[in-house]
Amino acid sequence: MLDNPMHPREQRREQRQEALEQAMNSVRCGAKTRQGRACQSPAMKNGRCRMHGGKSSGAPLGGAHGKFKHGLYTKTSLKFYEDMKKVLTETFTLINR
Ligand SMILES: [Zn+2]
Repeated sequence: MLDNPMHPREQRREQRQEALEQAMNSVRCGAKTRQGRACQSPAMKNGRCRMHGGKSSGAPLGGAHGKFKHGLYTKTSLKFYEDMKKVLTETFTLINR
């Protein structure tokens, strides 16, 4: 029965074993469970499993976020202030030479 080409049981077993090994060697979720230990489910790109935010792309940005008011502290404006500060610092050092 094992030698039947229409029923490649061995091949499927090997594929299953390979997939299982891959799953066992994957990165694990580090979220804290209610038991107080790490979750240990297979993690996604962001280091969390499907139940602990792995599929989530995060909160909506800008006006789509419910707490958005004026944009004074958004990533882009903070970067802009930082860049302006650098330019001003360089300018003052050039002037004061
Ligand atoms: Zn998890």
